[in-house]
Amino acid sequence: MVEVPVNIIENFSLQAYNSLALPAVARYFITINAMDELVELSRHYRLNTLPWLVLGSGSNVVFSKDYNGVIIHLELNNIYYRVDDEAVYIHAEAGVIWDKLVQETLIKGYPGLENLSLIPGTVGAAPVQNIGAYGIELKDYFSSLLAWDRELQRFCHLDANDCCFSYRHSIFKEEPGRYIILKVVLKLPCAWRPQLQYQALNSAMIDQPLSADRIRNVVCELRRSKLPDPELLPNAGSFFKNPCINQALFSELKSLYSDLPSFAAGVADQVKVPAAWLIEQAGWRGKALGAVGMYEKQALVLVNHGGASGDEVLELAQCVQSDVWEKFGVQLEVEPQIFGALTEN
Ligand SMILES: Cc1cc2nc3c(=O)[nH]c(=O)nc-3n(C[C@H](O)[C@H](O)[C@H](O)COP(=O)(O)OP(=O)(O)OC[C@H]3O[C@@H](n4cnc5c(N)ncnc54)[C@H](O)[C@@H]3O)c2cc1C
Repeated sequence: MVEVPVNIIENFSLQAYNSLALPAVARYFITINAMDELVELSRHYRLNTLPWLVLGSGSNVVFSKDYNGVIIHLELNNIYYRVDDEAVYIHAEAGVIWDKLVQETLIKGYPGLENLSLIPGTVGAAPVQNIGAYGIELKDYFSSLLAWDRELQRFCHLDANDCCFSYRHSIFKEEPGRYIILKVVLKLPCAWRPQLQYQALNSAMIDQPLSADRIRNVVCELRRSKLPDPELLPNAGSFFKNPCINQALFSELKSLYSDLPSFAAGVADQVKVPAAWLIEQAGWRGKALGAVGMYEKQALVLVNHGGASGDEVLELAQCVQSDVWEKFGVQLEVEPQIFGALTEN
């Protein structure tokens, strides 16, 4: 008979465990302190038949109702480095806070991750949506990861091809709940090349000494100037992905709105347009609906002004989506993962 794990709490409030501060209760909350505990947990018949959800810092989730399953919280916090002539390989366990990793690599003299400074969340969640900012994405430095495969009930190694990374997407969103990411290996080439192709970063770096530390400082300043701190104003970062539209629709919109910005989508016949611009033009920047609203300094960020429910968040998201659709014929896709009404995870 398999024993009930020691670190299990029933009816656990998740309000402090999601950056939107939404009230939701998990049926079970289990802290994992060693990888083998997962094997043990998987043998526990009753717990293994329930849905599982790994929760890192909760900065990319929306709980629209209580979670009737097992929340897994990974307290795996080690980082190891291996260096050869070509690159530094960073082995970071899933519970490490992403920005602490960025900071530590720079202190150790291993540049590369500086553009991804200050992104909230854990290392284990970073491959899930292939985190990206200021011109780079996790996949640019990704080597492999170790995960527990719930379907096959075994540990597995996945490389970049297996993860199927694309813009804010990966296999982990395609097959939610299957993999529990335990360790991520990143490869930073020894020959550092600054990545300054992102216009706002490029402009802010003019006349600045060119170093990875300086880039990190500038990225942190830029982020702080436009993104609300979830501790002060609960939010989940960008609430919608930047949509890709076909060239014909883009040309039609451009003839109506000559100031419509655009970026290369990297896919034939597709153009990426900033969701923030569409939301602002649809009149939602700084506008509230009950306790929630779209942030006044960055229209892409949905904020909880205090005491909001998950349903209020979803209602606002749907209003924004429908107004953007009516005005531009463009469908906005929600970026955070929703647990509740829209999905039955
Ligand atoms: C203010 C703010 C700014 C942000 N800026 C950016 C940005 O610039 N770029 C960007 O890409 N994102 C950004 N985000 C989104 C967020 O920071 C990232 O998605 C981050 O990777 C989420 O980490 P987390 O630990 O909070 O994940 P959580 O929110 O806890 O989880 C997110 C998803 O990943 C899954 N997951 C988490 N850990 C694991 C694991 N170990 N194994 C398997 N699945 C797992 C969860 O089940 C869930 O489905 C921002 C968010 C906020 C609040």
